[in-house]
Amino acid sequence: MKHRTLIVLPLIALVSGIGAISCSSKKSDRPTVSIPKVSPRQSTAQWLKTSAKITWLRRQVSGRYDGASAWDNIQATSAGIRAKRSYYGNAPGGSVTLDARMLTAMKILAREGYSFRVTSVAGGSHSRTSRHYAGIAFDVDMINGRKVGYGNPYWRQFLRRCRQLGATETLGPGDKGHSTHIHAAWPR
Ligand SMILES: [Zn+2]
Repeated sequence: MKHRTLIVLPLIALVSGIGAISCSSKKSDRPTVSIPKVSPRQSTAQWLKTSAKITWLRRQVSGRYDGASAWDNIQATSAGIRAKRSYYGNAPGGSVTLDARMLTAMKILAREGYSFRVTSVAGGSHSRTSRHYAGIAFDVDMINGRKVGYGNPYWRQFLRRCRQLGATETLGPGDKGHSTHIHAAWPR
């Protein structure tokens, strides 16, 4: 033990000496190297954006290009910035942070083998109090290459999985306004 202490102490002195040298070099105009921090939300969004399993609609379902499409939303989240909301109909405008629980659920669904097309996240005009505006809901109109509808065998189990993954509001064919798409939303 005594020997180790004897070796370690000069090492500490050496390391702190180096530290002092590098600190003093800060006085020069050398540029500071900063390592960008990527949040778990951001890295999940990056994964989702590049996943071959997921397609992101690049316009609103209504046909508008307003910078708040599903694609725009996942792009922004991947870049670490807030997702834009639409500013027409019932949509309130502004922006919101997409919910990490929802993004994680999307990732799990894709990893479990589902392929799907996301038509709306925070953008688009929905009902006045829609959870979409809070960044906690997403819509899907295609699952495993087939349109969502009564004839699609996948949407029920897709929504069931969403509920298992924390969604507390799930709508689809049979619910008003959802004959061609499904909606999954997480708690506020
Ligand atoms: Zn919806």
